[in-house]
Amino acid sequence: MVERPSSVVKELVENAIDAGSTEIVVELKAGGLQLIRVQDNGEGIEAEDVSLALQRYATSKIRRAEDLFNLHTLGFRGEALPSIASVSQLTLTTRVAHSLSGIKAVCEGGEIKTLAETGCPPGTEVEVRQLFYNVPVKRKFLKSIRSEIHHVLNHFLRLGLAYPNISFRLVHDRRVLHDLVKTESSLVRIEAILGREIYQHLQPIGWEAGEIKISGYASLPSMARANADGIYIYVNQRIIKDRIIHKAIVEAYRHVIPTGKFPVVILSLIVPPSAVDVNVHPTKAEVKFRDPDRVFQAVNGALRSIQEPSAAAADAPSKREDRALPQAETIPFFSSYGPPVPFRFARGRRDETVVPEVREAPPPGWNRERGVPIRIVGQVHGTFLVCEGDQALIFIDQHAAHERILFEKLKKQVEMRSFPVVRLLLPLLMEVTAEESFMLSSCLEEFFSIGFEIDPVGEKTFAIRSSPSGIDGEAAQEMIREILEDLKMVKREEKGTEALNTMLVTMACHGAIRANHPLRKEEMEELMNNLNPFHPSTTCPHGRPIFFSLTWDELSRQFRRKS
Ligand code: ADP
Ligand code: MG
Repeated sequence: MVERPSSVVKELVENAIDAGSTEIVVELKAGGLQLIRVQDNGEGIEAEDVSLALQRYATSKIRRAEDLFNLHTLGFRGEALPSIASVSQLTLTTRVAHSLSGIKAVCEGGEIKTLAETGCPPGTEVEVRQLFYNVPVKRKFLKSIRSEIHHVLNHFLRLGLAYPNISFRLVHDRRVLHDLVKTESSLVRIEAILGREIYQHLQPIGWEAGEIKISGYASLPSMARANADGIYIYVNQRIIKDRIIHKAIVEAYRHVIPTGKFPVVILSLIVPPSAVDVNVHPTKAEVKFRDPDRVFQAVNGALRSIQEPSAAAADAPSKREDRALPQAETIPFFSSYGPPVPFRFARGRRDETVVPEVREAPPPGWNRERGVPIRIVGQVHGTFLVCEGDQALIFIDQHAAHERILFEKLKKQVEMRSFPVVRLLLPLLMEVTAEESFMLSSCLEEFFSIGFEIDPVGEKTFAIRSSPSGIDGEAAQEMIREILEDLKMVKREEKGTEALNTMLVTMACHGAIRANHPLRKEEMEELMNNLNPFHPSTTCPHGRPIFFSLTWDELSRQFRRKS
């Protein structure tokens, strides 16, 4: 159970939180291997209970099996202190406020060596020295100090995010790594932990899906990180690792941030204890949901709602009761920094009905006065457009850009059920493989919504009765095969919306201008006009970037015109 320094830090800090502390200081030496000290100003331990607290299965926190998940305290098994004590030299000093003196217990390898009265401030201090001194194998397998610190920081920050009303300080080898001042506002804490840069890309989440309540913050597609460290999940206030929730989050950002990148999401789920299996093991930080699909849908819906406020709830029938909470019920996010800058790109005609509420801060150079055109400098390499914005030089991938435009257009057509379809006079017969047959049969409805009316007429033979206009005969068959190929990547539990999206991506990719394709001036202008972002996203539906910009500042720096 005590795996490494970070697990010790986590347990001790959780005990301090359980004790009602408002100030917690964590001090480490040599990545925690030499020393871990956690000091709090909580309620302390009564003198006569000290030796009990160091014994296995002793807990002052009431427990009843079916209540486990209801408990408001983080620990309840009475295992942490004794386990830590058994693999270290542990000193516990504690004083309850109403007592004049405190008590100090010194343990070695789990045995209490001395127990004596001492003078100390109210609260508790636990010092763990020489962790694993008696388990050399374990000590040997720990990685570098740097990697232990990485783990400690991870737990420390996760707890810090969940309890903004507690001050946390983390000191390593006398260097203050974090000094989190207590605050009423979770936003202030988020900014302190994640930094202002990330903070500015966050949007509040308020979502209700039946008895599941979701709140928190999530990054807009304008930002993505190289790893999933920025995903923080809490279920009923506990820090949880959960595959389903994680997947629902990542899935919600598919097609809007580059593939292989991750959003920043701080997500708190409140579920009734009945929604969770009783034999959960909270110290393992895992839960088992009775209805994982429901949780998936709820989390997915919540995150999509901030990207496309109107579309998410209308998506699946099972989510009909799901709704975004009114802004008033969530914390207004941008209030301290003024309203977000609208993303504006197009000139000329702009169809208001297809432009969803846009919340993204524009990339540099993208932001310009309405109506002032970005100047198209030209096309290079037959593949990229170079444009001049007011703050930057902008490079656009013509294929990716066109793909995004087509994808959004197709999606709208599906939503409006206005997909242009051509009925074939004679149905077209198509032979497929067994695997394709299985896939095709399970997605007939989705195919139908993009204009392909397909009926099975034999085990591996299908009749195509209609196709999207512009795609007929050979092309229709080819397109269906291509879609089936792409559908293989879609996991079974993500069928439905995801299958449909995949189809649209395939179609968009098919129809988009290729690379190495020279464009005339009017064609470039047309493309730029249409790039009026239907969707505040900066990638093509496959997740590749559409553009990148080089600010004048950066350019000037290259030429040493500026330092
Ligand atoms: P658990 O947290 O599961 O009850 P622990 O082994 O972590 O078990 O702690 C045992 C007991 O010691 C707790 O139930 C609590 O009564 C007491 N305790 C531990 N740490 C603190 C602390 N920082 N402040 C007050 N009491 C503490
Ligand atoms: Mg505990």
